[in-house]
Amino acid sequence: MGGIVIIGAGECGTRAAFALREAGYSGPVTLVGSEPHVPYERPPLSKPVDGAVQLKAICSAQALEASRVDYLQGVSASRLNAQERTVTLGDGRTLPYEKLLLATGARTRPLTCPGAQYALSFRTYADAAAIFSRAGDGRRVAIIGGGLIGMELAAVLRNKGVAVSIIEAAPAPLGRAVPARFAARLHARHSGEGVQFHLGQGVAEITDCAVHLADGTVVPAELVVAAIGVQPDVALAEQAGLSIGNGVLVDDLLCTSAADIFAAGDCAAVRQPGGGHLRFESWRNARNQAETAARNMAGGSEAFLAVPWFWSDQYELGLQVAGLPAPTHQTVLRGRDDGEVEFYLEDGQLVAAAGLGIGNAVAKDIKLAEMLIAAGVRVDAAALADPDFNLKTLLKNARAA
Ligand SMILES: Cc1cc2nc3c(=O)[nH]c(=O)nc-3n(C[C@H](O)[C@H](O)[C@H](O)COP(=O)(O)OP(=O)(O)OC[C@H]3O[C@@H](n4cnc5c(N)ncnc54)[C@H](O)[C@@H]3O)c2cc1C
Repeated sequence: MGGIVIIGAGECGTRAAFALREAGYSGPVTLVGSEPHVPYERPPLSKPVDGAVQLKAICSAQALEASRVDYLQGVSASRLNAQERTVTLGDGRTLPYEKLLLATGARTRPLTCPGAQYALSFRTYADAAAIFSRAGDGRRVAIIGGGLIGMELAAVLRNKGVAVSIIEAAPAPLGRAVPARFAARLHARHSGEGVQFHLGQGVAEITDCAVHLADGTVVPAELVVAAIGVQPDVALAEQAGLSIGNGVLVDDLLCTSAADIFAAGDCAAVRQPGGGHLRFESWRNARNQAETAARNMAGGSEAFLAVPWFWSDQYELGLQVAGLPAPTHQTVLRGRDDGEVEFYLEDGQLVAAAGLGIGNAVAKDIKLAEMLIAAGVRVDAAALADPDFNLKTLLKNARAA
């Protein structure tokens, strides 16, 4: 048998299975996934339509079968032997492989305070089903963590009329991934909806009816959700002796320190041209890295170069961020009635862009910004700032040059 084995049937592992076929690989492909479902999308879990959580499949069982992907559903890989090129499964089977992809994703960071067992986590369909079945009926919800997932959950619950508090250790919510201008606007939007913020606060203890903060404040809550971020799932890689940092370390081809073992998606930290490794936690990144890894496993030699991009939906507002904005960048603001885009320049070159607007209002500008970032060209700041100036012109000029 042998062939290619993929561990993890999330966005990354599943996309990689299909991308192997698209790249012309005709040998056996085995996809091992520990969750008891067909592969499904995570983003809709925190954006349920009409407040009802649904399992949105990435693909059907028939589509996997038609692509000759052997999907081992509800089966965990428990041991990886890089010397013998085998994977041992939780059900006792051993799979030999020629090449292997680690797409094990990430796990929620656990709370460590007394009473942590009262808090639900939020990563899987089962987590979402537990949260949404219990929120409501007059229960007050406390969300620990004011990051993207916590804020999205707060928006959905407020839309359902649920009383929500957010407890955040930092002085402001969304500080990690969202530029300050848009983090502040989203914070204000949530406050306007009645979300109670407790900022700069640690949690001392959780009970069955409240969260006790370090300064003595008691936040009443019959339901507590921990949304304090995730950790890359490196357990198999670590046990197999692969190089680990903030994720499974991979080179620009997405190859790990072991021959013929690749890693991609939320679990992988990719070597950067300027040094160090970066790990991304986004849906598009999982797909892009899956496709690059698949082409390389099928015999290619392609460096992973995609511009990072993610989105978030909160109330009627859509946020999109392309590239990696940093406080040291020169900023240029482009404003319209339905949204604003902030561009980030380094030495006159566009390196990142972020926008917040009604629905998809900023999508077109961010898409064009992504292309300009990828083209690596210097841009005219005055043109970027003018909402009537079509950014396509900058792209055409860049291509002509
Ligand atoms: C609620 C929620 C909302 C989100 N919303 C957005 C959004 O709006 N925009 C955005 O860009 N991103 C969003 N994300 C992030 C995005 O979904 C992730 O970045 C993406 O799912 C990562 O895909 P992955 O396949 O790398 O990892 P995962 O989705 O974590 O999948 C990994 C899979 O591997 C399995 N696995 C792990 N170890 C083993 C093993 N040993 N054996 C077998 N299987 C194993 C896991 O059970 C899991 O099913 C959201 C995430 C969540 C949780």
